[in-house]
Amino acid sequence: MSNLKIGFIGLGNMGAPMAANLAAAGHIVTGFDVAGTTAKGVATAADIAGAATGADVVITMLPNGSILRQVAAEAITHMTPGALFIDCSTVDVESARNTAEAAENADLLAVDAPVSGGIGGASAGTLTFMAGGSVDGFARAAPLFEIMGQKAVHCGEAGAGQAAKICNNMILGATMIATCEAFALADKLGLDRQKMFDVVSTSSGYSWSMNAYCPAPGIGPQSPADNGYSPGFAAELMVKDLGLSQQAAELVDADTPMGARALELYTQFVEDEDGKGQDFSAMLPRFAARGRS
Ligand code: NAD
Repeated sequence: MSNLKIGFIGLGNMGAPMAANLAAAGHIVTGFDVAGTTAKGVATAADIAGAATGADVVITMLPNGSILRQVAAEAITHMTPGALFIDCSTVDVESARNTAEAAENADLLAVDAPVSGGIGGASAGTLTFMAGGSVDGFARAAPLFEIMGQKAVHCGEAGAGQAAKICNNMILGATMIATCEAFALADKLGLDRQKMFDVVSTSSGYSWSMNAYCPAPGIGPQSPADNGYSPGFAAELMVKDLGLSQQAAELVDADTPMGARALELYTQFVEDEDGKGQDFSAMLPRFAARGRS
């Protein structure tokens, strides 16, 4: 692939290392962030127009859907027909579809491509991309996903990437809570946590939360629990993603009681129980400290 001219908008915790990886791979990257943040090897634009004008590809990595809609509306007016717009933020499915439609109306290709893998994955270039959009759009984006990540799945039409992301994280939130409450119950039943792990991780209760990201310190592979529950994946980001899954469920009339309860519990944890800034697996000490009422 020849070197591309890439505009990268949103150089935060995730965007900055992603943009730096694209620059390190030889692409000509120009970045813009309202907070004035920069990234290694990335030229700085004064505004959105400066990043988008003349770019072969514009990539966004922004906090939410309403900011994405605003940024995309502006960027699209400066992009050349035939260019590619990739949004890697986690946003609501509606905003993803709306952005794709606006881009396509301007003769651009559009792909929604939220990621999993966190800040560590963004720095190491090992993210997983879940993409929605046309076959052509995905084909054009794939070599860039290869630089920034280790895997990219084309999930379907516009919005399908966001749909996959919020469904995955709804399972993750509910499963982490189930794992943490089970550990807390096991504690009170006098069951040793290591024995609990040895059994569950090889039995039908196993999951990524138990096996790969065990919320009990000193047990299983290294995880944020071994680092005082410093994130990792912060509880407030889980609140965001669970909120998006409930918003989507409302829109399509899907019954998601476990997702709804997980959202309530994580919201309570973040807003009323000092969960903000802690890893989402810190639900274990929360449950362990409580009784039934
Ligand atoms: P962040 O807050 O660190 O970065 C977002 C950046 O966007 C900020 O630097 C902000 O200044 C910038 N920004 C806001 N409005 C802007 C505008 N109008 N124009 C230009 N820049 C603007 O957030 P992050 O952790 O990098 O996350 C980015 C996205 O990735 C979010 O949607 C998040 O849900 C998703 N995500 C994050 C993680 C994670 O572990 N941090 C993991 C997976 C997905």
